[in-house]
Amino acid sequence: MGKVIAIDGPSGAGKSTMAKLIAKELGFDYLDTGSLYRTVALALREKGIEPNDPDDKILKALNDITVTFKGGRVFLKNASRFTPHDSRSNGRDVSEDIRSKEVDYYSSVFSAKKVVRDFLFDIQRNAASINDIVVEGRDIATVVFPDAWKKVYLDASLKERAKRRCLQFRERGIYISMEESRRDVMERDTRDSNRDTAPLKRAGGALLIDSSNLSIEQVKEKILKFIRAET
Ligand code: C5P
Repeated sequence: MGKVIAIDGPSGAGKSTMAKLIAKELGFDYLDTGSLYRTVALALREKGIEPNDPDDKILKALNDITVTFKGGRVFLKNASRFTPHDSRSNGRDVSEDIRSKEVDYYSSVFSAKKVVRDFLFDIQRNAASINDIVVEGRDIATVVFPDAWKKVYLDASLKERAKRRCLQFRERGIYISMEESRRDVMERDTRDSNRDTAPLKRAGGALLIDSSNLSIEQVKEKILKFIRAET
């Protein structure tokens, strides 16, 4: 088992940016677990699964799919879809498709289900089986890697996170208003923090950083200082 640096926090707190920077700085691998939940949500929707379908139906659909990741990209293979893309050895690259507003919503809804979380548990654990890795998500330090070497909880104000999400969509040519962004972020926060299984919360011993008024460089320095202080 490699060393794990766990970074948790709500959407738009800057986890992905920071996890990539820290991984690069330390020569660690990097895993964005949100992209796995997004890929599962995309796959389930493609298979016509609704969030209120029974668990055994969801599980049957999950058993048809394979999710893999490499070099920051995520791939989906769907055994019951025989398209030329899906039958490639790795499946198809869904890294762009999983960033839609629809997947934002469904990933947060399906991720509240234990059957979905159980399905992704081993995939996440296995990612740390050999190399040192920075893993970011919602329950990394609390559930997936409670034994993580270093734990960070990255937060920011609702206003700042809604603004960042708005900008991210606009960079991809999708216009959403600040009000819509704020509402979506708030809804996802509520679902992610109040679900019964693995709710978003700060793990004991996790360094808390509020990035609202900090630059990317300042956040990175705080995390690196924390990591290096006790090693
Ligand atoms: O991080 P990102 O916004 O891409 O994650 C999409 C959704 O996946 C989140 O809103 C959350 O509901 C879910 N998620 C989760 N646990 C994780 C990572 C993501 O429940 N470790």
